[in-house]
Amino acid sequence: MSRYTGPVCKICRREGAKLFLKGQRCYTDKCAFERRNYAPGEHGQRRTRMSEYKIHLREKQKVRRIYGVSEKQFRIYYEMATRKKGVAGENLLVLLESRLDNIVYRMGFASSRQEARQLIGHGHFLVNGRKTDIPSFLVSSNDAIEVREKSKKALPILSALDDMERQGIVEWLELDKENMKGRVKALPERKDIPMPVEETLIVEFYSK
Ligand code: SF4
Repeated sequence: MSRYTGPVCKICRREGAKLFLKGQRCYTDKCAFERRNYAPGEHGQRRTRMSEYKIHLREKQKVRRIYGVSEKQFRIYYEMATRKKGVAGENLLVLLESRLDNIVYRMGFASSRQEARQLIGHGHFLVNGRKTDIPSFLVSSNDAIEVREKSKKALPILSALDDMERQGIVEWLELDKENMKGRVKALPERKDIPMPVEETLIVEFYSK
């Protein structure tokens, strides 16, 4: 299945949680989930009991959609996670957090991961001084991410940086807002990832 390109607020309503896919709108009373806290569609307000399979599937879909990766890519991340030492579910989240689009978003250079993907694709960022336009690039500890000189006046980046103070930055990243550069202090552990998901359900989904 390819990447979803339809209305993103429907995803939050389908998953029954705010997934913060739309930038600043998510923090306002225009948020569709705040207004209609039930699944989209004609039967959205019906209460239905979910099978075990569906519970696992929904958790996997939720995480996949938060990070905006395709089914195929997500499966690849899962397989990479199982080959690493440690707990597969936690490894999976760390891998997803290490994607450049996530880092650009978490540093406050973009208002959503989707916007981060676009900005990266347009070549606005350097990783360790080299132009990098691949949103799925996996960063490592100590990597430096900065906005290219010619992009320092790009409005989406300036506006996202203005808004980021409201949300704050995670502890494992540091940001020099004035110079528009940041550093990955260390890759996160599970406790450092502010994500309301049960990754064990994803592992169970793929283990069946
Ligand atoms: Fe989800 Fe944001 Fe849309 Fe609210 S505004 S439903 S949090 S994407």
